[in-house]
Amino acid sequence: MIARVIVDVPSRQTDRPFDYEVPLALEGWVEAGSRVGVPFGGRVLQGFVVGVIPSEASEVDMSKIKPIAELLDPLPPLRPDLIELASWLSVKYCCTMIAALQAMLPAALKGKAERTVRLSESFEEQEPEAAAAVLLPDGLREWLRRSGPVKLDTLRERFPDAGAYVKAAIRIGLLEEQVAIRDKVSIRKVQTVIPPVDREGAAEALAAWPARAGKQRDVLAFMLDAEGPVPLQKLLADTGTTGSTVKALVDKGWLTMREVEASRDPYAGRTFQRTEPLPLTEGQQEVLKWIVASIDAREPKPYLLHGVTGSGKTEVYLQAIQRCLDQGLQAIVLVPEISLTPQMVERFKGRFGDAVAVLHSRLSTGERYDEWRKIRERRAQVAVGARSAIFAPFESIGLMIIDEEHESSYKQEESPKYHARDVAIMRAKQHGATVVLGSATPSLESFAAATAVRPSGNNGAGGGAPLLLAMPDRVAGRPMPPVTVVDMREELQGGNRSMFSRTLYAGLADRLERGEQSVLLLNRRGYSTFVMCRSCGYTAACPHCDISLTYHQKTRVLRCHYCGHSENAPSACPSCESEHIRFFGTGTQKVEEELAKLFPGIRVIRMDVDTTTEKGSHEKLLKQFGERKADVLLGTQMVAKGLDFPYVTLVGVVAADTSLHLPDFRSAERTFQLLTQVAGRAGRHELPGEVVVQSYAPEHYAIQTAQHHDYDAFVREELAHRRAMGYPPYCRLILVTMSHEQLPLLTEVGDRFAQRLRDAALAAGVYGRVDGTSGPRALDVLGPVASPIARMKDRYRFQCMIKYRGNVDATALLRETIRPFMEGSEGRGVQFGIDVDPHMIL
Ligand code: ADP
Ligand code: ZN
Ligand code: ZN
Repeated sequence: MIARVIVDVPSRQTDRPFDYEVPLALEGWVEAGSRVGVPFGGRVLQGFVVGVIPSEASEVDMSKIKPIAELLDPLPPLRPDLIELASWLSVKYCCTMIAALQAMLPAALKGKAERTVRLSESFEEQEPEAAAAVLLPDGLREWLRRSGPVKLDTLRERFPDAGAYVKAAIRIGLLEEQVAIRDKVSIRKVQTVIPPVDREGAAEALAAWPARAGKQRDVLAFMLDAEGPVPLQKLLADTGTTGSTVKALVDKGWLTMREVEASRDPYAGRTFQRTEPLPLTEGQQEVLKWIVASIDAREPKPYLLHGVTGSGKTEVYLQAIQRCLDQGLQAIVLVPEISLTPQMVERFKGRFGDAVAVLHSRLSTGERYDEWRKIRERRAQVAVGARSAIFAPFESIGLMIIDEEHESSYKQEESPKYHARDVAIMRAKQHGATVVLGSATPSLESFAAATAVRPSGNNGAGGGAPLLLAMPDRVAGRPMPPVTVVDMREELQGGNRSMFSRTLYAGLADRLERGEQSVLLLNRRGYSTFVMCRSCGYTAACPHCDISLTYHQKTRVLRCHYCGHSENAPSACPSCESEHIRFFGTGTQKVEEELAKLFPGIRVIRMDVDTTTEKGSHEKLLKQFGERKADVLLGTQMVAKGLDFPYVTLVGVVAADTSLHLPDFRSAERTFQLLTQVAGRAGRHELPGEVVVQSYAPEHYAIQTAQHHDYDAFVREELAHRRAMGYPPYCRLILVTMSHEQLPLLTEVGDRFAQRLRDAALAAGVYGRVDGTSGPRALDVLGPVASPIARMKDRYRFQCMIKYRGNVDATALLRETIRPFMEGSEGRGVQFGIDVDPHMIL
């Protein structure tokens, strides 16, 4: 048999399967999905088997085919449906197969080759004279005999002077070199001690035990009481003995020792309160009815669940999962990384206990691997995790839930630049699974698709449009919190130069007095700054693109990162001639200092990238806040998501506009989402809540509609803008980035590439402007222009934006055009990157 193997080389030139012989010993073991070590260009590399075919079917000359060197796991880490999914990923996102396959596996399985040497014992027997001639130092020979294969590095460290002998020994075959793939972490094994089989005999022996071996007697007595195997560490600790005592009992035949596999359970020692299904509200029942019918029918169907914050989406998820399990099917729940708090995990573990595997990046590589193995080995039926959990290797998936589906963290920003939503819809087709996209603020793409506004033609995975389900009311008739928008321009005119308006100040003082808690959000994302007039709220925008211009401090120039337009930064506001025009940005630290000044003794927990780098710190801070050890939780985006604290009655947004003017067509959408999410943190329980939003642009529709909790109004307005300017969902985008150390060369290659793409589109009869008025078949190429970060690591960066509509197969056109640039000599060393449906335009 021949195995077709994708080898772990991150290069486009080798992005195809290579044929290898399956050695007889491995027949029946190697199958599609197996991970193997194969010889490749003089090395041994890790590879993935994507198919096994009879030798006759191979097109490669049999005499040139090499055998597989080793099989790395008894149970293939990938499944055939995942291999098929990888092919789809590589086409849709223009990435290599190996990148797609590795995206699906835990980091622990990204093995690297390791060289070892060992003593060839048969050689010593057969060629004693030759062996003797090498004169391996005595210690070395003994050491090798005892330790088996050792790493070359280890050998060098121990015997630094033995180089010449070792080389000679390898040359004549006395030492054998081996190359094997080693994983980053291995399966954890622990020694356990097994109680005596002959209990009566042991009890008798114990009674007559010689007094001088008292320690042994204690251990044996302990083991006679034990109900089953005891981990060695525990036995030693509980009896206060050493390993030699235990070993003596093993030697006498009373005890046996065995190595057993153990999981690194990240939630070990924590107990989860078992929860029972809640009686559902009418709204929840209606929604669940649809989802359950869909799970039962096993048709691949996506649903968009639009439920306001506090409408009880999680309970619907839980009961839908239960249905899935009852049917013998498995379920995947995606939650944004940042909301994967213990609170969130508890909701799932509390209902489904050990059937839940949790996958997220704050686990150690080993913990993550063990959780993943629970899925692969069918010990878990529910996977709860961040983006990559969508690849959980389940066999028959009945349901995939993407909570907060609008979150940009579902889009991976490195290759493969996939979106979990599209992957879910594709996997649903393979498994006949139901997909539920849940959000209080669905992405415009999903909402437009669900309401059958699908002007961009085929959607992400080419699947059916999602059906819209709605839960417009909060559980138990709790009201949405009132939102006050404060016009910060008026504050300035009124002589208040602090970052807190009088309303927010009064609100904070009030909460302090009553012993209630507040959440303060400092909306600050991205690394770019924009120019704004503090007197009138004017912001500099591009005349061609309707997005904010970015301020470049060094050159004092304003630039558009979509089309390249640039102008000098004004020294006075072009609109009101005020001199209070400046670039914007405040840090959480500054807010913290200000709070301390205004409210001496106030207890503040600050949560931002600086305070949450350490593992577990995020949870710790939230726990402290939950225990009311602070009055204020102050933070960036992190504080907006999924938190549910009963004593939070005030939510303040310090500067709502910072995300409104980012040079990104999604900036209004992101601002609306953020304000709605953070407002949803207030008054979720008995105590009523209140929200204060500070803004320099209170008339902006994103802020107005968020104030009135009016998603529909926001969408109407935003869709009109998108249509007029020709942005998704009215068209689709592909971002091509290019980088090189030499600017003239990059300019030349970039221009030539863009021109070639335009020519190709022209030849295909689709080239044309893409905006609100263009027809269903059009593709436009914008740029190249300098990237927002124009130089990174000494490389200049350019980008091209491809805008297209309808059923133009833009990826195919791009793939063809870009191939000679990426793989051939046309690129002249320029590095290309492709981002399909980009989220970060910055
Ligand atoms: P969402 O995710 O939609 O913002 P949650 O799922 O967090 O809302 O639910 C909000 C609150 O309502 C939670 O405290 C939850 O326990 C409670 N809840 C949900 N469903 C019900 C129900 N049917 N009966 C009583 N309480 C419920
Ligand atoms: Zn522009
Ligand atoms: Zn002004």
